[in-house]
Amino acid sequence: MTDFDYDLFVIGAGSGGVRASRIAASHGARVAVAEEFRIGGTCVIRGCVPKKLLVYGSHFAHGLHDAAQYGWTIDGARFDWATLRDFVARDVDRLEKAYTSTLDSNKVEHFAERAVVAGPNAVRLASGREISAKVILIAVGAWPVMPEIDGAEHCITSNEVFHLPELPTRVVIQGAGYIALEFAGIFNALGSHVTVVNRSDRILRGYDEDLTDRLLPIMQARGIEFGFNRPIRKVEKRADGSLLVHAGGGDPIPADAVMVATGRKPKTDGLGLESAGVALGHNGAIPVNEFGQTSCPSIYAVGDVTDRVQLTPVAIREGHAFADTVFGANLRSVSYDHIPSAVFSQPPLAAVGLTEAQARAVHGQVKVFSSDFRPMQNMFSVVAERGYYKLVVDPLTDVVLGVHMIGPDAPEILQAAAIAVKAGLTKADFDATVALHPSMAEELVLMR
Ligand code: NDP
Repeated sequence: MTDFDYDLFVIGAGSGGVRASRIAASHGARVAVAEEFRIGGTCVIRGCVPKKLLVYGSHFAHGLHDAAQYGWTIDGARFDWATLRDFVARDVDRLEKAYTSTLDSNKVEHFAERAVVAGPNAVRLASGREISAKVILIAVGAWPVMPEIDGAEHCITSNEVFHLPELPTRVVIQGAGYIALEFAGIFNALGSHVTVVNRSDRILRGYDEDLTDRLLPIMQARGIEFGFNRPIRKVEKRADGSLLVHAGGGDPIPADAVMVATGRKPKTDGLGLESAGVALGHNGAIPVNEFGQTSCPSIYAVGDVTDRVQLTPVAIREGHAFADTVFGANLRSVSYDHIPSAVFSQPPLAAVGLTEAQARAVHGQVKVFSSDFRPMQNMFSVVAERGYYKLVVDPLTDVVLGVHMIGPDAPEILQAAAIAVKAGLTKADFDATVALHPSMAEELVLMR
């Protein structure tokens, strides 16, 4: 028996919070979770999952075109945004139900309202009810940053983009990171005219420059315009309802929708953390130790709110490790080395380990192997785009330090390559592997 209402109270039912709840419950803890929006969090409700479905939906634009080369006659092909949007929304509903039933089947009680911290062992629900818990887990995620733009109220973010009443004819996207480039690809393929404007002259900062140097001209060749060193200053609504985007260093850009994708900030505003003495770090992030514990010993945090690596599988691991550590008597922390990542741009890119620049900074000398090839599936395609794979290798140990890929299905292939990098395999191990022919992935073992 404890004096608390629950052993664990989780604030936020996203990827990290749901995993932590169910694992803690499986260890015998009495668990409750509060969620102010929808169960599933960013990834399921307005992130990875609906975005990927839009990517799939938009791929048909090229697929239909290519099909003709293979002998298919496609008469009267048309695209209807509402059909795709509503299909995606239904799948999100399905997944939300699946997440909810996971909580139910693990006997995790859920409150469909906002909860804030009211002390080291207390939370307060929006309804006013106060609940005590031995441990509190903050898993509230992050929220799109809206830079201070005159006319910001006319802009949308990745929160709203899934619900557009119609497909915009002209879209301006601010930012050149993950979200900006993924949606640039989606809108472009679906037929919108897309202009990407960024504050710097870079895209996808952090990825190997050989990949980004390959991606940019391909996106441009597909018809996406880029404006670099052009932060948006003002978005003006015109009498006809359309928008005019004033971005530094160039003419105003007419648009029907303006999407801002300039990063995501931990959602800690108004969360009552000061009532428990939880220290906050840069950007409102909650600093934690290797087990997810904050400066208040009874309060932990996982996922995007800690602003370490803003990726769903990382949040899930953090939630799981927290639950095993605190309720399963099994001290576990997450390894942040060799986390694979991908950008579902068109074409997509994916990477694991060190970029060439990072490897040079750490190891001095590095060996680089690359393959620049035309994927077979592009042979008869309207898009004569070339793929590019690159291995970064430590010349002293022969260990593969990084794998970087751009081309069709790069994320699917990279996941398998990430196992090899995580395992510390050498270039000789790659070379000793017989190629699987004909495939794009075989390039990974054919670089000499
Ligand atoms: P990113 O950090 O990827 O990119 C932010 C972009 O906005 C950069 O181009 C940056 O410019 C620019 N920027 C940053 N701050 C400002 C500002 N104040 N004013 C103007 N421009 C600015 O953020 P996203 O919003 O695209 O994505 C957020 C996070 O979500 C990602 O970091 C990622 O972790 C996650 N995510 C992951 C996905 C995946 O795994 N496929 C998909 C979508 C999101 P610059 O760098 O040039 O200076």
